[in-house]
Amino acid sequence: MTSATFAALGLPDRLLRALTESGYSTPTPIQVQAIPALLEGRDLLGIAQTGTGKTAAFALPTLDFLAEERVDLRRGEVRALVLVPTRELAAQVHESFARYGKFLGLRYAVVFGGVGIGPQRATLARGVDVLVATPGRLLDLVGQRAVDLSDVEVFVLDEADRMLDMGFVRDVRKIIAELPEDRQSLLFSATMPAEVVALTQTILRDPIRVEVTPPAKTADRIEQSIYHVAKSDKNALLARLLDDGRMSRTLVFTRTKHGANRVAKHLVHAGVGAVAIHGNKSQSARERALEAFRDGSAPVLVATDIAARGLDVDGVSHVVNFDLPNIPETYVHRIGRTARAGREGIALSFCDVEERDFLRDIEKLIRRRIPAVDDHPFAGSVPAPQVADAPRQGRGAATKAAAPGAAKVDGEQRGRAGGKRRGRSRGRGRARSRQSA
Ligand code: AMP
Repeated sequence: MTSATFAALGLPDRLLRALTESGYSTPTPIQVQAIPALLEGRDLLGIAQTGTGKTAAFALPTLDFLAEERVDLRRGEVRALVLVPTRELAAQVHESFARYGKFLGLRYAVVFGGVGIGPQRATLARGVDVLVATPGRLLDLVGQRAVDLSDVEVFVLDEADRMLDMGFVRDVRKIIAELPEDRQSLLFSATMPAEVVALTQTILRDPIRVEVTPPAKTADRIEQSIYHVAKSDKNALLARLLDDGRMSRTLVFTRTKHGANRVAKHLVHAGVGAVAIHGNKSQSARERALEAFRDGSAPVLVATDIAARGLDVDGVSHVVNFDLPNIPETYVHRIGRTARAGREGIALSFCDVEERDFLRDIEKLIRRRIPAVDDHPFAGSVPAPQVADAPRQGRGAATKAAAPGAAKVDGEQRGRAGGKRRGRSRGRGRARSRQSA
């Protein structure tokens, strides 16, 4: 993919050591493109989804800056703020900062709703170098004066499209109003609807734009197959497939929360270690389920799309689409969970008669036919699909992309880089003025 190294991107030894410990040998395309520009202090618009390595792309240069311009933290101070839409993503991003920055001696914190606010207030009272937060809880803490965002030097808005989808736009704007004008800002989004474009215009100043390959191409690295099956046989088919032992860590997607519960229940009944995760579960139930999946005690995690978004679990061997999604891009996002950061995986999809139109749309988007397994134990109970179900080429032209994982950088903007990192010079000035105060 790429021959660049993390050292060549300009990262210091203390970060390189942590990356080696994390098992990262080569930077991903978004890291190659984003890190040098961020080290220079540029603002950035990253069009990328999870699985591309975007977290490290923003965390590493941020950590480098914070470690180089160390300050005595004021009460409630936050130096770098990362806003994310969900609790799971918040926990993961916080964990990434702590892991990459373990040799830097900085303070990292995470706040989100659904858990007690007291301990969060106590953590923030001492000031933190990096705060990862969901919008609602952060605003509560701002309202209680437990945190002061007026000295934020680096601001990251992650998964902006999802943030807006979840109705956080007003909260996000209120938070931005708390930030100083002079800061480095980064915005990441998998898609760029008009609302996100508008947000970039208010947040970013002369940003470098980095775009990683559209999701349609992710599909190339994953072995995919379709099981035509009656709806009523899906549970039995899944249990049978899981029985063969090769599906060591399997993520099963359902369209609804109830569906996720039903499938997990059925599997447990069939003797398979399965847990479900979705929005109706309490925070602690979700964490327990995720932990069981991560540590292998539950080899199967059943999830809805919303619950799974942003969820970071390494080594997923198989993705099963128990229900086919009605939005074809969702299929690509789902199966991408088994081929993260360049690894390969296997995706199996169940398709009942009513889902054949969804399948056709998916095949159009990815511009290929997904091979059907026709000798599975429940194949006899559904009529064979018609030849006319084959995908028509053409509509997918817009999804044509560069090689898998390739990143595009807006060359013109990049050429105008120059300039010192804003945060860096500001950091020094601030430290000085504080001493003299
Ligand atoms: P993200 O897109 O930030 O959610 O990252 C996706 C996954 O890739 C996470 O599990 C990271 O730990 C992993 N990852 C990120 N960068 C690298 C890298 N350079 N080499 C190997 N794995 C990576």
